[in-house]
Amino acid sequence: MEIKTIGVIGAGQMGAGIAQAAAVSGYDVILNDIKQEFIDRGMAGVQKSLGKFAEKGKITPEVKDAALGRIKTTLDIGEMKHADLVVEAIIENLDLKIKIFKQLDEVCPAHTILSSNTSSISITKLAAATKRPEKFIGMHFMNPVPMMKLVEVIRGILTDDETTKTIFEVSEKMGKVPVECNDFPGFISNRLLMPMLNEAMYCVMEGVGEPKNIDEIMKLGMNHPMGPLALADLIGLDTCLHIMEVLHGGLGDSKYRPCPLLIKMVDAGMLGKKTGVGFYDYRQV
Ligand code: NAD
Repeated sequence: MEIKTIGVIGAGQMGAGIAQAAAVSGYDVILNDIKQEFIDRGMAGVQKSLGKFAEKGKITPEVKDAALGRIKTTLDIGEMKHADLVVEAIIENLDLKIKIFKQLDEVCPAHTILSSNTSSISITKLAAATKRPEKFIGMHFMNPVPMMKLVEVIRGILTDDETTKTIFEVSEKMGKVPVECNDFPGFISNRLLMPMLNEAMYCVMEGVGEPKNIDEIMKLGMNHPMGPLALADLIGLDTCLHIMEVLHGGLGDSKYRPCPLLIKMVDAGMLGKKTGVGFYDYRQV
């Protein structure tokens, strides 16, 4: 199936990045959020990122301007009626996502593929909120989207081959490498990554080491490009907590219990880079 227009729900760090990568690859994009200020913040991020790519000579100024021209923004989810594919990238909250997919199912034409960028919520469960579970799929981009190659493509139990094939084609056109997996809590990426991040938080809580030392050991000793605590701050500690709760609830094993320090930091609004404070302080003094 040919995809021309991609709708993106949520203009946060992931949604804005997905809109940018799609527009650079020639897709028309409709970007939606609940408040104009969130759309403005997302578009400012896209402008800045495209500016950096142009400065480094990775894209021409013409490509940058054309990409910006392909992104239309709207507060009206009804505009998704023009989309051939919708990628949902709102906060990691099951009830909110179900509400959005019920609306999208009403608004979008029968051919439209619905997808979620969820980090951990069951694709099968989200698909069941629609009348088109065969046209529903997980499209899990990595952060920061314009830089990262992987798209984890998650098939729900009813996702059909045609939908999977189309999503592989779209991902490849976006310059990404799609890798398929089945629908289990955390999929593959977060089933492996998140317990490691959670364990690093236990190391902070139990006084095993300072965040910078824990990160340094993983960078220098394991060749990780980023330490686990800096990565948790980048992902967002609220998102990390949601994922741990999905792993814990879905797999029922105590080894997935969220670290109490993570819960306390989220309660305090210390969500990492996006709020200015997490395991590190990002506020300019
Ligand atoms: P974010 O908090 O940066 O952005 C979420 C955006 O969704 C906000 O702009 C918010 O206003 C908007 N939103 C909330 N409710 C909405 C609604 N009803 N309609 C439209 N927009 C709405 O979050 P994020 O980090 O971009 O994460 C988004 C999704 O991507 C989550 O499901 C998350 O699990 C997943 N994800 C995150 C990462 C990461 O590293 N942060 C990586 C892969 C996947």
